[in-house]
Amino acid sequence: MFKKLLLLVLFVSTSIHAQDYFFKKFHPFNQSIPSPEEFLGYGIGEHHTRHDLIVAYLTKLAETSDRASIYQYGATHEGRKLVILTITSPENLSNLSQLKEQHLAFTDPTKTVSNYNEVPIFINLAYNVHGNEPSSSEAALLTAYTFAASNNPEILRYLENAVIMIDPTINPDGRDRHTQWANTYQGTPNVSDPQDAEHNEYWPGGRTNHYWFDLNRDWLLAIHPESQGKLKWFHEWYPNVVTDFHEMGSNATYFFEPMKVNGSLDPIMPKENYEDLNNMFGAEFAKALDSIGSFYFTKEVFDGTYPGYGSSYPDIQGGLGLLFEQASSRGHEQKTAFGKITFPFTIRNQYTSGITTVKTAVANKAYMRKYQQNFFKSALTIAGKSKIRGYEFGDAYDANRTKAFIDKLLQHQIDVYKSGNRYVVPTKQAQYRMVQTMFETYTKYRDSVYYDASAWSVGNFYNMKYKAVNTLNLGEKVESTETVVSVAPVQKSDYAYILDWDDYNAPAALHYLQEKGLVLSSSFKPFTAQSGNNSKSFGYGALVLPVSLQNKDSDEIFALLQTAQEKFQIPMYGVDSGYSLKGIDLGSRYIQPVSKVKAAMLIGTGTRSYEAGEVWHLLDTRVHMPITKIPLRNFNRINLDKYTTLVMVSGRYNLSKKQQEKIKQWVNKGNTLITIGTASKWAIEKKLVKEKLTDVERDSLTKDSTKITERKPYVDAPENLGKESVGGIILRVDLDTTHPLAFGYRDKTIPVYKNNTVWLAPSKNEYATVAKYSRKPLIDGFITDENRDENLKPSASLIVSKVGSGRVVLFADNPNFRGSWYGTNRLFLNALFLGNKISVPSRD
Ligand SMILES: [Zn+2]
Repeated sequence: MFKKLLLLVLFVSTSIHAQDYFFKKFHPFNQSIPSPEEFLGYGIGEHHTRHDLIVAYLTKLAETSDRASIYQYGATHEGRKLVILTITSPENLSNLSQLKEQHLAFTDPTKTVSNYNEVPIFINLAYNVHGNEPSSSEAALLTAYTFAASNNPEILRYLENAVIMIDPTINPDGRDRHTQWANTYQGTPNVSDPQDAEHNEYWPGGRTNHYWFDLNRDWLLAIHPESQGKLKWFHEWYPNVVTDFHEMGSNATYFFEPMKVNGSLDPIMPKENYEDLNNMFGAEFAKALDSIGSFYFTKEVFDGTYPGYGSSYPDIQGGLGLLFEQASSRGHEQKTAFGKITFPFTIRNQYTSGITTVKTAVANKAYMRKYQQNFFKSALTIAGKSKIRGYEFGDAYDANRTKAFIDKLLQHQIDVYKSGNRYVVPTKQAQYRMVQTMFETYTKYRDSVYYDASAWSVGNFYNMKYKAVNTLNLGEKVESTETVVSVAPVQKSDYAYILDWDDYNAPAALHYLQEKGLVLSSSFKPFTAQSGNNSKSFGYGALVLPVSLQNKDSDEIFALLQTAQEKFQIPMYGVDSGYSLKGIDLGSRYIQPVSKVKAAMLIGTGTRSYEAGEVWHLLDTRVHMPITKIPLRNFNRINLDKYTTLVMVSGRYNLSKKQQEKIKQWVNKGNTLITIGTASKWAIEKKLVKEKLTDVERDSLTKDSTKITERKPYVDAPENLGKESVGGIILRVDLDTTHPLAFGYRDKTIPVYKNNTVWLAPSKNEYATVAKYSRKPLIDGFITDENRDENLKPSASLIVSKVGSGRVVLFADNPNFRGSWYGTNRLFLNALFLGNKISVPSRD
């Protein structure tokens, strides 16, 4: 008995001792609620905590505390739960739906309410969007425990005045990848040598989600279930303050907002957000970190311009997003130039900032509320002053791409109307600033060095031809995307079927039918055919399915087409004759069978995981087609002959001469290599293809070695050099729509996305430059005049180059950027599905 008591005392006292490092200030704690250490069996900071344990602990808090309730807002690609723990006073918690209604009244510009001080402030403490920046989720556990169990008067006062919503892990799939790594290589004692395996994750690392996407860019684009779930939640609650906790390189201290003074301004944001609110919070973070002896910096770096960050999206919803960056211990303990950084130290800083966020929000409750109310009211007044009354868009040839764009608008609560066969988005609406974000373009900025993209007019991502209108004809409100696509059911034929190649889903349908054993052909010239009582004209790339040439009977074929149409919602037509009304006939030699594709992609150290993930995600989620991911380390023992198509995304490829030759020989045999970005540059530099880069040519011709270099101030170097990179801009290209790589495009100009300095020279072959930058190429974003005139204008965006019986398709720009470039995905899918049909005509 005595022994047992002693053990218990020892246990309690050590646990308090260890955890007091974090929250000594907030005693006493309710003893019936387990601390993280009691629940996990180890002290916070001793190991990295798995996401399932994080969810289990928050669930435990919801069970044991009358202040907390837990809610699941989604699941990740790998099936991990996305949760929010709501903590507030028991009284607030039991009135939550009423409080929510009162809170939301401030976000409705048609309502005028003024009980600013009477409604608690809504705070979303969100953590760990980058999986390998792990301190924040550990801090989330401590923060949740503090608010759920502390009976300290200060905490009780916060709970009365705030509804705190804790999202412990925005990116659980990435977090667990990193957690597994850090725990696997942890030594006893800890190894602080930066060269130890524990501090050096293997490709692709834990930063990104399952498909290697950066979720801290996905708030605007909402491609993934993590962001889609969160957006839905966000627009249900409109929190006043949202945190976004990160880690940066180990040789640093701590960063909080305000951000970089010039670069951080989204031109459509109220200045008050950047100036008043950030300084109000910043002063409190400084005090709190001073009190625990931590060092920090502000204002020097990072920009919140791109509206798809976790710290900028809340700004554009009338709240305040707050970015924190902790120098990473990357592992449990690491030696740095600043001394030793331990995992608990990083956790304590994040914990301190979280509590201080709540403290400051509560202290400025009425101010924050009034700010949010003004934000939405001003949306209507500013929109009212604009000559632009709305934006009109729609693509008659591609209903599924139009649908995907409308889906994006609705996810951001933008009102959309249907008027005839056009869609209209009025500017005068509560989400006016999101409307601007989707449609407006900017080419002039106060600053020119970007942490990320300088262009995000999402309409261009989707190649939506839209125009600003001065008069409105709204029509019917679009409530969901269910009715956007309506295809006439395919009619049975015993002769042939024709499928449009214009629709975004056409490649998916082609793949599906090929997998079912059907042989389809691609039309290299347009034609007009009789289908039933109608004549229908088909563009380049239309798919022809001759019934008598298949190994299945016509009933089976018809059933497969019906299923394909149900799945992919694309137009399909039965025809009874091969004699066309106009153009080529169905038996023409311009209609060529398309063979099945067996695709592979090189991945691993040296390759750009984002671009590889984008290819993988595109094929998985939109085409439903497998792609073999070949780790570069296995390249020597890979038999390439199993594949028809190989994808090389941007990267640093250290392939030996022999390995290069292996690729070249394989292409030679008639296969297709697709290169993106710096992989295209690599293919040219290694002479895999006989193409050129424009900048090399220019440098050798025009560089004047006698010219005296102008001296510039040392301190300006980072800014000056930063300007020369292309952070992410939208450019106009001229397409050859008769080329198989551009089949399915009806417009000769389309927007493309460029975030590199790969400048391809147009091919010497007249028929091989598929996309070239237009005479006035810049649509949106920042590029220096020199880059634009000397590098961009003379360059090509997409060329195809003959190698023996095969070909290399070279993309200068990334057609699959962030999974959201529906407008250029098709170029990539054409290269994949039609690549092997492309010959490069030439005189020799
Ligand atoms: Zn981060």
